[in-house]
Amino acid sequence: MAEETIFSKIIRHEIPADIVFQDQRVTAFRDISPQAATHILIIPNKLIPTLNEVEAEDEATLGHMLIVAAQIAKQEGIDESGYRLIINCNRDAGQEVFHLHMHLLGGETLGKLVNK
Ligand code: AMP
Repeated sequence: MAEETIFSKIIRHEIPADIVFQDQRVTAFRDISPQAATHILIIPNKLIPTLNEVEAEDEATLGHMLIVAAQIAKQEGIDESGYRLIINCNRDAGQEVFHLHMHLLGGETLGKLVNK
């Protein structure tokens, strides 16, 4: 069994978070250390540590994460100006929290995708 992270506590409302959306499958909340004017994390309620552990049964949830991302972008008023979705997987991508999450970034012109 994968170990729970702080994100499981956010899903269960056990610690404070600025939750912007939640349903049976996913939870979305503002990143505590925003890297852009709008920075929201969209996570599955099911504990999946990284994208590598995704299973066939997660297909609908993963698709739902994208639909929710687009809805939140609209809600935040950044759908037309533009936004970026990022999933970091493991060390080289700098993943810090091992509960799958998609970053929704926007509200300003974003830098290059990869800084070298
Ligand atoms: P990653 O580097 O892709 O694993 O991203 C983890 C993200 O989680 C970082 O952007 C953190 O700022 C964010 N984060 C960590 N703890 C919290 C928290 N309690 N509430 C909101 N965001 C958090």
